[in-house]
This record gives sequence, structure tokens and C-alpha cells, in this order.
Amino acid sequence: MSLSRRSFLAASASVAALPLVGCSTVSLTPAVTTVAPGIARVRVGNFSVTSLPDGVAVRPLAEGFVRNASLAQVQAALAEAGLPTDSVTVPFTPMLVDTGSRKILLDGGNGTFGAPTSGKLLESLGKAGLQPSQIDTIVISHFHGDHINGLRSKEGALTFPNAKILVPAPEWAWWMDDARMNAQPENARGNFMAVRRVFGPIAQTVERFEPGRELLPGIRSMPAFGHTAGHTSFMVESGGQKLLYWADTTNIAPLFVRNPDWAVMFDADPEAARKVRRGLMEMAVKENLLVAGYHLTLPGIGRLTPRGNGYDFKPVA
Ligand SMILES: [Zn+2]
Repeated sequence: MSLSRRSFLAASASVAALPLVGCSTVSLTPAVTTVAPGIARVRVGNFSVTSLPDGVAVRPLAEGFVRNASLAQVQAALAEAGLPTDSVTVPFTPMLVDTGSRKILLDGGNGTFGAPTSGKLLESLGKAGLQPSQIDTIVISHFHGDHINGLRSKEGALTFPNAKILVPAPEWAWWMDDARMNAQPENARGNFMAVRRVFGPIAQTVERFEPGRELLPGIRSMPAFGHTAGHTSFMVESGGQKLLYWADTTNIAPLFVRNPDWAVMFDADPEAARKVRRGLMEMAVKENLLVAGYHLTLPGIGRLTPRGNGYDFKPVA
């Protein structure tokens, strides 16, 4: 046994011997728990936030994945991160916020509508010890298929039968506009159709909120428009601790956290999205926030550190 290990054990033993009564500064719950591979649970005050991986999509890398960088630049960034340069693997990671009284799912996964390597949300939920019927609230960041398709099965059944669903009002207004859908060429209407399939039958009960509002105690919505017209981020706050769930403010970290000015092909308004990205990243570093993102490196929760013109994303586990 090395000297450092021996002194570490001695220190642990003396901590364990401390009387717990009146020792309010010692937290008995570890800040980060690994529930299963890719599933991490972090404490945020009295809340916990658990990543629930829905799997990945592997895309062949082509010119245009990043709108404003050359294929060679993108390949160099992937190589620097030790990743393959002929494809990109994009994770999908909904988050579960447990406030003690509520179980809130942030975004809803691909269901059976994405790549065969996706649609694993319910499997992850099970590994975290929960049934779909226990989810009482679902908050959606935006209406791209990878965030909403999992809310309803191919047969039409709601996946989370007891959940109240909250969505950004500007996102609803954009995608539910029939005139806008009909103005698109037929092959560009897929996402409009997905929105109608998922939300059409429950249009009366879905709650539409104006981004900026506190949705529930400790869950504040923040306008983050650009990726889509109503794309929204969320600040989770309890006991003076915060976690920023920025949804699709960036796509994969080695490209878009490292290079915040790069625009992924899915950004509807690249310049608005870039400004949001810069603003939230600056805030995350200034406030040393825990950051969670839908397409970040698993488990999808971590912190940012500045590097060059961008940042590194350091996952918590
Ligand atoms: Zn997405």
C-alpha cells in the first residue's frame, strides 16, 4: 500500500468517526452517482437530475454537417478529440428531474421512429428504477422528432400516460401553422407531420408556456431561440445550486462546444443560435454551472472550461 493511499484511508476513517449530529456541512449523499453506464445522477440542492440515454445515431460525415466550417476543419476537430473522422455519433439524452414531489422528464426521445441504435429511453428509465407511469410532468425544449417522437408509440398510445405535457408556445405556433406546412415542398413536411401525430390528439391538454416563465418551483424556462423558432433552455435550481439544461443549444461537444461559432446543419437560424450558444456558455463558466445537453458526451451532464476560442466539456462521470 502506498503512503498516499494509507494516509487517504486514515483521513477517511477520521471523517467517518466525526459525530454526524450538528455536522450540517457534511453531505451524506454523493454529488454524482453512476446508476448504470451512461446514466449519471447529480444532486442539485434537494433535487436530483438523472441522465436517461435514448441511444445514438451514427451519421456518415459529409460536407455541410457544419454549415460554416470545411470538411477538413471538422475532421481535424474530431481527430483532436480521438474520434473517427468519417462519421459522427450523436447521442440523445433526455433528463429526469426528481424534485422529491415531482418526476419531470425533460424531452422525450426518438421512440421507434429513429435509428435502430436509438429509442432506448424506457430501458434507461427502467435502469434508473422507474416506470413510465411514474412520470408526472414532461417539459419539451423544441419539436424536432428526436425530442418528441418517443411520447407516442407507432400504434398511437401515449408512452407516459400520467404525464402533463408542457411545451414552448412559440414552438407550438410555428409547427402547428398549417399554412407554413403547406408552403413547404412535400418532402420537407416530415417534422410538421410528426408534431401533429404526437400532439394533435392531445391539443386540448398540452400546456403552452411563454419561455422566461418559471414552470414549476425550481424549473425556469429560458428563451433560447435559433436552433428552432421556439427552442427553450431550462434552469433547474434548488438549495442555491443550479443546473442548466440547454437542450440543443449545441450538438456534439467536440465540434460545437470547442467551436461555439460553428453552426450545425439543424440550426434553423444559425446566427440567432450562435448568439444564444455564446451567451449560455459564458454564463455557465461565470457561474460554474452544471450543464446538461441533449447531444453532449455521455452522461450528458458536466461542466465547461474555457479553451482557446471555445470550451471543453468535461462530463461528470
Ligand atoms: Zn435534438
